[in-house]
Amino acid sequence: MLNDYFKDKYGKKILKLSINAGFSCPNRENGLNGCLFCSEAGSGEFGGNVKKSITEQIEEQIKFLSYKNKSDSYIAYFQSFTNTYDSIDNLKRKYFEALNHEKVIGLAIATRPDCINNSIINLLEEINEKYELWVELGFQTSNENTAKLIRRGYINEVFKNTVNKLNNSKIKTVAHLIFGLPYESEKDWLNSINYLANKNLWGIKFHSLYIQKNSDLYDFYLKNKFKIIDKEEYISIVSKALGLIPKEYVVHRVTGDADKTELFLPKWSADKLSVICSIQKKLKEDSILQGSNYIE
Ligand code: SF4
Repeated sequence: MLNDYFKDKYGKKILKLSINAGFSCPNRENGLNGCLFCSEAGSGEFGGNVKKSITEQIEEQIKFLSYKNKSDSYIAYFQSFTNTYDSIDNLKRKYFEALNHEKVIGLAIATRPDCINNSIINLLEEINEKYELWVELGFQTSNENTAKLIRRGYINEVFKNTVNKLNNSKIKTVAHLIFGLPYESEKDWLNSINYLANKNLWGIKFHSLYIQKNSDLYDFYLKNKFKIIDKEEYISIVSKALGLIPKEYVVHRVTGDADKTELFLPKWSADKLSVICSIQKKLKEDSILQGSNYIE
C-alpha cells in the first residue's frame, strides 16, 4: 500500500494534496464530451479551488488536513482533468510552483497516455531526479469495446507505449482500473487485471464504477439500465485482483471516492470504510496475499 511505501522510503506519513491547476482535457474539447463517467470536476471531485493559486490551494489543504493528520511532508496531486495537457512552459511553471513549497516533496500527476510527448517526458525526468514523482494514467479497462463505449479516447496500444516510455525514463506509473463498467463481466475484469499485471507498473488503483448525477453516465444509465456491480462482486474481484498483481506493485486505492452529494448509484460505494474492511476480511478468508496468485 502507498502508506507502506512512504514509511519504508521516508520513515513517516506523507499526505497528498489535491490540486486543480486549471488544465483542460482533449477528450472534452472540440465537440467531444469526455469519458462517459467523467463529472463536471474532470474526475477531481476533491481538487482544490481553481480560482486560487497552486500555493494557496496547498496552504488551504495543509490547514484542512492538519485537523486530523499530522504530517510535515506532502505530495501535490495534480488531479483534476488532464495534467500534462498544456505548453511545456505552463506545465513547468505550475509543477514548480508546487515543488517550491517548503512542505511539498513531490508530485503525483494524473493524465492520459495520449498526452505525454517526448518534451513532457524530459520535463518529468528533470523533476524525477530531485523529487518524488509518479504519473497516473486512467486506463479503466483492457476491453477495447468498453473503452469505445465509455469514450476513453485511445486504444490499449497507446497506453502500453506510454508506460514503456515512462519506464525507460525511470518514471513511476500508476494505472487506474474500474470494475463495473457497462456490460462488463468478471471475465473482462480478470482480463484487465492480467493485462496490467504484466505492464511493469509501479502502482495501481482500483475503483468501482459509480454514477454521479453530474455525468453523462447518469443519462446513459437511465436509458440503458445496465447491471450495477454489487458490493459482494466488488469485494470478490478486488480480492482476486490483489492476488493476481505482482507483490511489488504499490496499491494506492482499493475503492473509489464519489462525491456523496452527486452519487446516484451504487449507494454502497459511499461507505468506504465498510468496503475496505470487507476486502480485508475476504483476503483473510480466501488466504490471498498480494501477488500470491501472480503468474509471470
Ligand atoms: S480523460 Fe479524465 S478529465 Fe478527460 S474526460 Fe476522461 S476522465 Fe474526464
